[in-house]
Amino acid sequence: MLPARVSIRAIVAPVLLALALAAPHSIAGQGTGFNPALPLIHVDNGANSPHAQAQHYVVLVSLDGFRWDYAKRDNAIHLLALGKRGVWAPEGMLPSYPSLTFPNHFTIVTGLYPEHHGLVANSFLDPASGKRYSIGNSQAVTDSSFYSGTPLWSLAESQGMHAACLYWPGSEAKIAGFRPSWYAQFSKTESTAEVQQARIDDAVALLRLPPDQRPHFITIYYSEPDHEGHEFGPDAPETRAAERKVDGLVGKLKAALDSTHLPIDLVVVSDHGMVHEDGDWVTLDQFADLTGFDTAGPLLYGKTEEDRERVYNQLKRVSAQFVVYRLKNVPADLEINQNPREGDPVVIATGPYPIRAHALPADSPNQSPEPGMHGFDPRKVPQMKASFFAAGPDIVKGKTVAPFENVNLYPWLAHLLGLTSPSNDGSLNILAGTLRDRGETPGTSSDDQSGNVPPQAAQPQK
Ligand SMILES: [Zn+2]
Repeated sequence: MLPARVSIRAIVAPVLLALALAAPHSIAGQGTGFNPALPLIHVDNGANSPHAQAQHYVVLVSLDGFRWDYAKRDNAIHLLALGKRGVWAPEGMLPSYPSLTFPNHFTIVTGLYPEHHGLVANSFLDPASGKRYSIGNSQAVTDSSFYSGTPLWSLAESQGMHAACLYWPGSEAKIAGFRPSWYAQFSKTESTAEVQQARIDDAVALLRLPPDQRPHFITIYYSEPDHEGHEFGPDAPETRAAERKVDGLVGKLKAALDSTHLPIDLVVVSDHGMVHEDGDWVTLDQFADLTGFDTAGPLLYGKTEEDRERVYNQLKRVSAQFVVYRLKNVPADLEINQNPREGDPVVIATGPYPIRAHALPADSPNQSPEPGMHGFDPRKVPQMKASFFAAGPDIVKGKTVAPFENVNLYPWLAHLLGLTSPSNDGSLNILAGTLRDRGETPGTSSDDQSGNVPPQAAQPQK
């Protein structure tokens, strides 16, 4: 399926009026060490519980579009060092389908496949409400009705533990009853050097707050090297320079976190990879009469069963570049066969082919596909695989993991934080071998390897 072409960095500045109406929120930033380049919105969720205060800290960083093989290919010294000190996935981590930014960021923090958490693409129609979601629409991204599941920041807050999001898709909406205690509104200034540094400064400033206030879970998002990967392709010097830049930010962040002397597990992931787009647009309305259909990128929303079956038949076996299924018949390993937001019928690219329902108007700029793209099935297009590196007091040293589905990060991150996970599509068993306590509930392990973990870590209630 073709990804939306809107990059997250293209999101417009948020509507300040919404801020003013959003009491009891207030702007943080006057305290020690906060960087005014990234003002944070503070939500009063009470104080950290005594149990929460006894837990370790997790800083989760996402580098958008940092393909699984970039670090080794271009010697990203800070990421590779992180993996050496802890664990990493040298053959990559499997994104969920579609391998797009918002669906995968929200999968990472909910442990749910996109059709279960609701963000089935970067742009889609919700046939039930008639509302459209688009990552560039500030009203849509703050609309709770689009999101299902319990993101880690809401899970933490619901269990008496503060969380902070220095950007993360979904973090600007109230989900599962909570907002993070601190969050930032996405802005087009996101990619400036000043605001890139500000995420590091604000993370450390938050960690220097008094114990009853400081967040134990912090997310940080960087939009590079995705942007360069799209514009120049995954092998271009510009993309490689962007990789080195974000690797340098990881190095700075690591040093800054070390300066707090807190027990912090640092986890760096990406949402997906990047591939050279192969050929020109495949435009579905050249094969089928889409009259009466709503569309979003390559997604097709037929209004009647008759229309859906007709277009399915018109698209069947007409191209080697895609296959078409009725929604309920999409192969189970793609995990998209239930949610009406996915459309019906469903078109799946067989390789790195750019697919859309309709051509752009003739006077639109950028008529050609971008050099780099993602969104494809990682089992068919392995360049979609993402990155995973992690190290800290709760993580074993010097271990590699085979490719694993990113839904499994959620129970693992919840375990690191001592939180009880709700049911989700992941399993703690997948990454349990990377944990010093092997993912076991404290007190139940017959072979406790947590010798290096400070005593206060061994109290989580699972
Ligand atoms: Zn992208």
